[in-house]
Amino acid sequence: MIFKFIKATLLATFTLVSVGVSGQDLLARQAPIDRKLKAVDSLALIRQIKAEKAAYPAYSLYPNWSNERVHAFGSAVEIPDSFRIDLRGFSMPTNQTKITSNFGPRWRRMHNGIDIKVYIGDTIRAAFDGRIRMVKYERRGYGKYVVIRHENGIETVYGHLSKQLVGEDEYVKAGEPIGLGGNTGRSTGSHLHFETRFLGQAINPAYMFDFENQDIVADSYVFYRRGSRLTPTTSGNSIMMADADRASIKYHKVRRGDTLAVIAKKNSTSIDALCKLNRITRRTTLRPGQILRCS
Ligand SMILES: [Zn+2]
Repeated sequence: MIFKFIKATLLATFTLVSVGVSGQDLLARQAPIDRKLKAVDSLALIRQIKAEKAAYPAYSLYPNWSNERVHAFGSAVEIPDSFRIDLRGFSMPTNQTKITSNFGPRWRRMHNGIDIKVYIGDTIRAAFDGRIRMVKYERRGYGKYVVIRHENGIETVYGHLSKQLVGEDEYVKAGEPIGLGGNTGRSTGSHLHFETRFLGQAINPAYMFDFENQDIVADSYVFYRRGSRLTPTTSGNSIMMADADRASIKYHKVRRGDTLAVIAKKNSTSIDALCKLNRITRRTTLRPGQILRCS
């Protein structure tokens, strides 16, 4: 009985204290604020989805979102004739610069990526903003690996990691650590196996990333579809051909102190040829970061 009384008194006191003048005011406002927040929430969500579709049209190129397979698209995917991949906003996946194996046929099978010497524990970073599609382990293949789908349309694969630092479906920013270098899976000696894919089609990462100079090759890379009329090839073997065509065009990113003479010499061409290719004159001022076509 006494307890009940104390409880009632306490409650009354508490109520009096908490619902003072300002307290009542707060309570009265509580509900509308709640509703308002909810409205803002869904508006923000709609806005985010819209922004995602507009800013990252590449996301809608992909027919599905699956955590199961690296090559999850098969014939369901419609590959455009050509697609410009924006490389700005990149981050180098590793600050190591030594390529130990190039993209291309190797030991009678296709090496779909590039191998960069890294040491166990080296930080491996997301190449662009994106969303983590896979965090998996393949004993006879990639080892511990991460696949990211990027807003610019490509997917990147990071293999042989010693540790994965992200979870599937998470969003990451370019440069965010996603794993540590390692030697897991089919690997002899620690290295990073790095792939760049567009709708599942492997593209030589060296056409986009210059590991030696820790830079991108150009501001964008244009992907041409197999058999695309834009691709001047008559053989059916086309992505390789398209890549080869693309590879025969050399670009130079202007660095501080570069002159046309230096760039011409570096790329075994002439100043006149550079001027003609880039529609500039010998007196044009070069800006650091400017991309010049050299062949
Ligand atoms: Zn490899």
